[in-house]
Amino acid sequence: MRVLLVEDDEHVADALGTALRQQGHDIVPVCTGAAALAGMEGIELVLLDLGLPDLDGLEVCKRIRAMSPVPIIVLTARTDEIDRVLGLHAGADDYVLKPYSVHELRARMEAVTRRVCRCGIASSGHQASCHGTQEIVAFGPLSINLRSRDVLLRDRPLQLTRKEFDLLAMLMEEPEKVHTREDIISRVWDENWFGSTRTLDVHIGALRQKLGAYEWIETSRGVGFRLGTPPEES
Ligand code: CA
Repeated sequence: MRVLLVEDDEHVADALGTALRQQGHDIVPVCTGAAALAGMEGIELVLLDLGLPDLDGLEVCKRIRAMSPVPIIVLTARTDEIDRVLGLHAGADDYVLKPYSVHELRARMEAVTRRVCRCGIASSGHQASCHGTQEIVAFGPLSINLRSRDVLLRDRPLQLTRKEFDLLAMLMEEPEKVHTREDIISRVWDENWFGSTRTLDVHIGALRQKLGAYEWIETSRGVGFRLGTPPEES
């Protein structure tokens, strides 16, 4: 995999670059946000340190996301930034807290790439959709295209992050069913996810905000979430 490694600490970049090259990845190291934005050609995954000398790492993340759907994993020691990293503002796919092990990072890299199969649909549990004929799933005034990953609400396009889309697609499969937090996390994130389940709440919050009404996604307290009755257009 061709990986853009955005890290201004030379020692970290060298050690990480070497370890990932040994695992067969093609590493493109850059040490500034500007170089990252200029070096996106052909990149299949971005590892992004938030503390960069020139631009704010979150701004870099946001700009990469605006130009490409490529998976972005943020490397950060800033626990206070995680909500913003994963939420509406930046569009990262995952994060790894510093200090981290190469083993942990590799697991996250595999997880974010595995979630997207050839046709752009999250792979876990979606095999039937990948090879089946149903591409458009509709619920009330909401419709999603599983192949193009386009989302329309009242015929207007919605921009969702990769995780938000996977989450919405899972809820829309069985709209009346309450999906447990565990099921959602294992399917949309990874069966080996060991991070905070707060990540799920951050994504639910972001999705509700983009859908424009809290009622779309009902909370089943202590259990999980389900797609609710769509609100009337005001
Ligand atoms: Ca740094």
